[in-house]
Amino acid sequence: MNIYADNAATTKMSRTAIEAMLPYMDGCYGNPSSLHSLGQRAAEALAKSRKDIAACLGAEPQEIYFTSGGSEADNQALISAAAAGERKGKKHIISTAFEHHAVLHTLEKLKKQGFEIELLDVGREGTVTAAQVEKAIRPDTCLVTIMFANNEIGSILPIAEIGALCRQKGVLFHTDAVQAAGHLPIDVKAQKIDLLSLSAHKFHGPKGTGVLFARKGVPLVNLIEGGAQERGKRAGTENIPAIAGMAAALKEATARMEENTAKVTALRDRLIEGLSKIPHSALSGAKDLRLPGNVHFCFEGIEGESLLLLLDEKGICASSGSACTSGSLDPSHVLLAIGRSHEIAHGSLRLSLCEENTDEEIAYMLAEIPKAVEQLRGMSPLWRDKINGKREFLL
Ligand SMILES: *Cc1c(COP(=O)(O)O)cnc(C)c1O
Repeated sequence: MNIYADNAATTKMSRTAIEAMLPYMDGCYGNPSSLHSLGQRAAEALAKSRKDIAACLGAEPQEIYFTSGGSEADNQALISAAAAGERKGKKHIISTAFEHHAVLHTLEKLKKQGFEIELLDVGREGTVTAAQVEKAIRPDTCLVTIMFANNEIGSILPIAEIGALCRQKGVLFHTDAVQAAGHLPIDVKAQKIDLLSLSAHKFHGPKGTGVLFARKGVPLVNLIEGGAQERGKRAGTENIPAIAGMAAALKEATARMEENTAKVTALRDRLIEGLSKIPHSALSGAKDLRLPGNVHFCFEGIEGESLLLLLDEKGICASSGSACTSGSLDPSHVLLAIGRSHEIAHGSLRLSLCEENTDEEIAYMLAEIPKAVEQLRGMSPLWRDKINGKREFLL
């Protein structure tokens, strides 16, 4: 069996997205800035995509800026809000300890430029309350940036409440909605969002394209200088095929959201219920306010990376959800933020589902994952010490 359960890392492109892209890679290859008819057809596709994406978010088309993805949108949102704050002498920024690195690393850069960064505690369930944000807001706060839903542990944050609070206090509010777009209802007006980032490849669109929503009147700083594309805020010839694919994918995901959510939530809950039976395991994140497709566990006594390789041999594509990239063995900052010890954080497994996963796949994973965990524990000297009472169990 071949199972793809890593949809939080990226998704398979939908047929709808591919078919929306093909005409702009083939016959209709014009540059939308060109005045001839081939260019104008591309310009029309660009305008239609902008309008369709705006409609999915409750935004106006002129509030949509196309970027190279979620990371760029996060960078531009934060740098723009910080610049606006600095002009008024406001240099305090509020965020959380478990944001994506596109946010956290941009905040580190801003810190070096003299901004004060306050990261709110996300507690054991991985969320923050509007009351926490309210307590942290000061007269010199220029930005609150809090993710819509967490990419590792799947918790969904109270965005509408935080948005209403920020609007009332006159503080700009950005949300990294990369894991939410196409999966959870977004309405930037109702949720009082000033800046929002999304990425096409997390909802069955193409990689390398995304959106920054900036509410009318929120001034943007451009990260890339050049031509006057995106109303002067993002230079470079637009990636028309990708943008058309993203718009088609978001439209489809939005139209099918209710149906997909029901299906994926049922699969998720079966998987959570079954994996909870593994001894010395713990579900990460909230039980209820959780992304439909997210399953995240820590298993004591194993290494997440070994588990991934073993599951890959069994045809299961999963993730440890941790930042064990570039040879670093640091456990995930998200798991540390919710209070997991280093030892437990190392034994993590994230399975992220989509509407294409099936009941048979869930049954297969429920048969194979406990066996794999047992096999790895059987090879671990640390685990033997725990069994023999020489070390304490943590979970
Ligand atoms: C994937 C992801 C990003 C980065 O988006 P890219 O388009 O890959 O740059 C940012 N934030 C979150 C929460 C993500 O899951």
